Amino acid sequence: MIKENLAKIKSEIPDDVTLVAVSKTKPNEDLMEAYEAGQRVFGENRVQELTKKAEELPDDIQWHMIGHLQTNKVKYIAPFVTLIHGVHKQKLLKEINKQAKKVDRVIDVLLQFHIAQEDSKFGFDFEEAKEMLESEAMNNYENVNIRGVMGMATFTDNKEQIEDEFRTLNNYFEVFKSHFFKFNDDFNIISMGMSGDYEIAIEEGSNMIRVGSKIFGARK
Ligand SMILES: *Cc1c(COP(=O)(O)O)cnc(C)c1O
Repeated sequence: MIKENLAKIKSEIPDDVTLVAVSKTKPNEDLMEAYEAGQRVFGENRVQELTKKAEELPDDIQWHMIGHLQTNKVKYIAPFVTLIHGVHKQKLLKEINKQAKKVDRVIDVLLQFHIAQEDSKFGFDFEEAKEMLESEAMNNYENVNIRGVMGMATFTDNKEQIEDEFRTLNNYFEVFKSHFFKFNDDFNIISMGMSGDYEIAIEEGSNMIRVGSKIFGARK
């Protein structure tokens, strides 16, 4: 069914929305089924699983780290990761810069914002991120490229609440774009929307959705 699920989702979303296939907990065979169907962008949320899959699966896969990334684990993914979605504090950005430099790369990252009501979801709040972007230290981070923002809405049936949260993230994107990235065309990604809410996210301006269970089936 993976191939069919992918085809259905792809046919329903605009061409300029990037689909990240979230393959966490799923075996390599499932990823390969998606790969055979043309999927190249995969998202994982645990460093150990991500590095193992990256070693075992084809080289032209673009691996996105979408989960909570601990500073001491950045070094394991720095050599190959395509995009890190979950930068939620300056210390992490600094470490990504350091590890990227070591392997002579510039790593693309997104700033994750806390837009949900649940405490379990992490991320910057607006002021924190603004402070960081204004700080002198930013000039030192030559090996990271901030490509945009990421966020997760509250897990709820309340559609209006989800819309509000995604709209908030879109606003943050616009404000940061005009204040800090006006002349930087690379700052162009809004990563929001998962299996349950990606349609709403796209309506609210998402151009990157992270979809797992709707492609690969429920996780245990
Ligand atoms: C697991 C996960 C997803 C995908 O969730 P589904 O509901 O299975 O689509 C998306 N984003 C993040 C950050 C995740 O951890």
